[in-house]
Amino acid sequence: MPKPSTRTKILAYICAKCFTTKADKLAWFVGKTLFNESLLCRTCWQDQFNSLTESERKEYGFYAKNK
Ligand SMILES: [Zn+2]
Repeated sequence: MPKPSTRTKILAYICAKCFTTKADKLAWFVGKTLFNESLLCRTCWQDQFNSLTESERKEYGFYAKNK
């Protein structure tokens, strides 16, 4: 049995929400939204993050640190 790979293959450097290819940085978003497990640009990522509930946001370490 081959070991399960944890590597994520990114085929296209494109935002899953607004489809921009010009963003200098895309981030993997995981949360209970329509774009769960999607690669999003900074603007869309922030947009999705803001739609999370308070407890879901706390799962992100940096958010807890900034509080
Ligand atoms: Zn976007």
